[in-house]
Amino acid sequence: MLGAMQDFDLRVTHIIDHAAREHGTREIVTRWADGSESRTTWAGIRHDALRMTQALRKLGVQVGDRIATLAMNHSRHLVSWYGAVGVGGVLHTINPRLFDDQLEYIANHAEDQVLLYDKAFQPIIDRMKPRWTTIRHYICYDDGQFEDWIGGEDGQTTWATGDERDPCMLCYTSGTTGNPKGVLYQHRSTFLHAITGLQPAIFDFDARSVMLPVVPMFHAASWGLPWGGAAAGIKFVFSAVNDAAVLTELMNRERVTHSAGVPTVWLSMFQHMDATGASLPTLRHAIIGGSAAPRFMIERLMKAGVNVAHAWGMTETSPIGTTGAKTHDWDDLPFEQQVDIKQMQGRVPFGVELRCVSLDGPGEVLPRDGKTSGALQVRGPWVIKRYFKADKDATDAEQWFDTGDVAVIHPDGTLQLTDRTKDVIKSGGEWISSVELENAAVGHPAVAEAAAIGIYHPKWDERPILVVVKKAGVDATAEEIRNYLAQHVAKWWLPDAVEFVDDIPHTGTGKISKKDLRDRFRDYKLADA
Ligand code: ADP
Repeated sequence: MLGAMQDFDLRVTHIIDHAAREHGTREIVTRWADGSESRTTWAGIRHDALRMTQALRKLGVQVGDRIATLAMNHSRHLVSWYGAVGVGGVLHTINPRLFDDQLEYIANHAEDQVLLYDKAFQPIIDRMKPRWTTIRHYICYDDGQFEDWIGGEDGQTTWATGDERDPCMLCYTSGTTGNPKGVLYQHRSTFLHAITGLQPAIFDFDARSVMLPVVPMFHAASWGLPWGGAAAGIKFVFSAVNDAAVLTELMNRERVTHSAGVPTVWLSMFQHMDATGASLPTLRHAIIGGSAAPRFMIERLMKAGVNVAHAWGMTETSPIGTTGAKTHDWDDLPFEQQVDIKQMQGRVPFGVELRCVSLDGPGEVLPRDGKTSGALQVRGPWVIKRYFKADKDATDAEQWFDTGDVAVIHPDGTLQLTDRTKDVIKSGGEWISSVELENAAVGHPAVAEAAAIGIYHPKWDERPILVVVKKAGVDATAEEIRNYLAQHVAKWWLPDAVEFVDDIPHTGTGKISKKDLRDRFRDYKLADA
């Protein structure tokens, strides 16, 4: 016997229908790369997406074809998200910061048919065109070309229908080891993920919310915001450039209440505010994720009256995994303890399950005691099962997916990330968290950025060294930094050496590239080794 309720397919085109019907006049503002601005609405986005669907059909695009974008955040990019899925296609957002070999690999591996791109990325197109073997149509977003392309269409059409398990979007991880891997989201997983994002602890949206997402649409599905924002009918303010002065001006003028970005985004906003005396009086909710948010950042935002949702997730988890939810006794806690809680990665929403297993051998499930660290595994309806075109599942028989993160889970379920599996430093049989060393180091007033890596040691196996970029105009010695760290971490964790450098390498998604850093220090010898 089956239940007797409606068969309502969980397809993402319902989301834009809802936004246009219930929040049709809510604005979508774009500040373009050339400094101009434009305004449309959810009804306008839907109409243009329908027109794009018609234009794609004229190009011969079939259900299941991949439609790629190489673009910053703006309203035409948003139209393309819904236009691509509306035709029954698979939206493939390409990260323009990837290296040429990766760009070549992913567009060919995805077998992209159409590529929509920002004029600013024309040099990438010119370079890559001969290497991209499947793209048949290139459409530029700028100089009226996108409008011309959909301009002949009237929007009198319907979305493609199909199964809720059909694919709707493809996103590649940045591939710090080996080739990038594609994560193929379903309509269903994306729909459920969009609803989950609406929880207060995550995006905290209602119809009054005004969101400026700094997280790019090409990074981990922009954390699901283009879907979740439409589901809630919020006002979006997009900036096609990520300049702190532009973002601050826009946030104040458009009375932005919500924003989302990786920690480096907030750092540059702080620097700009410190230099100019600007503030963000309307901001109420800040989502920070992608890498660990330093304590001073959380503290500063909280002191300014902003609720910080420090979130953990990955492209493979759509990406919502956990966020810094308030605990039941939140209102009775002293401020310092509230910051302690927000510094951890928070708790899962309904739908996501987490566990840690032993790092030393297969399988043993570790206690949630707030002390024992292990390899973090995740499962749930918006977690990956198999990478695109892979011949076997990325999960075990019980659907657990290995995140590659090392973490501690506290008795109340709070997740505390301590490292990446590949980055933990093993000294004398014990684990040292490179992330905790780095977090402690950036609290020193002279440290702009720090990265800890393990260096071979004949007795201890590995010992940490700390690589530091100093803040301009502030000096410190290695000994001062070690003394400072000694107040924050165990003595045997203290780095054997502190090396000052001009820059630390980063990945395409702006994270410290430990792999490149380890390569740089491959021949490094410790004094007592
Ligand atoms: P990539 O950077 O490889 O393209 P993701 O953006 O999907 O891919 O990165 C996911 C990884 O980012 C996680 O596995 C974790 O290591 C790290 N990460 C994400 N959020 C946080 C956070 N709040 N604190 C610490 N690390 C985080």
